[in-house]
Amino acid sequence: MTVMTKVKSSRKESEAIYNKTIPAGEGWMHELKKGQVIRIVDLEGNQAADTLFYDAESPEDHYSAVATIARQGNVYLTTGSTLVAESGKELLTIVADTCGRHDTIGGACSAQSNTVRYAHDKLSMHNCRDTFMLQLAHYKGEYLKRDLAPNINFFMNVPVTPEGGLQFADGISAPGCYVELESLCETTVLISNCPQLNNPCNAYNPTPIQVIIWDK
Ligand SMILES: [Zn+2]
Repeated sequence: MTVMTKVKSSRKESEAIYNKTIPAGEGWMHELKKGQVIRIVDLEGNQAADTLFYDAESPEDHYSAVATIARQGNVYLTTGSTLVAESGKELLTIVADTCGRHDTIGGACSAQSNTVRYAHDKLSMHNCRDTFMLQLAHYKGEYLKRDLAPNINFFMNVPVTPEGGLQFADGISAPGCYVELESLCETTVLISNCPQLNNPCNAYNPTPIQVIIWDK
């Protein structure tokens, strides 16, 4: 069982092979080779990075929240968590984490959930599901709507109450907090840098994130 474990990385940004800032509300999709390490940085703090992972060799096999939670016996992700696909294949392991807790059950915001949770006039607001769809549609032609799955919300705080309830709480991340994952196979990463303005997951002010990749 994992506990909140803050672990810093010794990797230097100057030695990275890839470095990109993803503006607030934008998406990103990229393939990792086996052994490569990706760092996702919450540049200004309190920013949810909605993320999905796919086995690049079998694109229909994606990250599974249920398999991951069951395998580690804990609903939160932090250093030591191994992300597992639907098939049971291990995709990535979290090797460093200065935030300490990431959500895997809150899911992504969508036009539909915005109208149900907030108000009907929120229907047209930018949302993570649309960002995911746009990225999938433009990526090599391998991915379709059916490849959307319950995602990880890095830097998002969704505590489970003693009664089993979920709360979308104010974030526990801070400027510069990061999570680092080592890819255990060829993995495709899909990120929506959440544009949500109706709940505290982005502190009502979506901000940029940074992705950095190192070779093994
Ligand atoms: Zn979102």
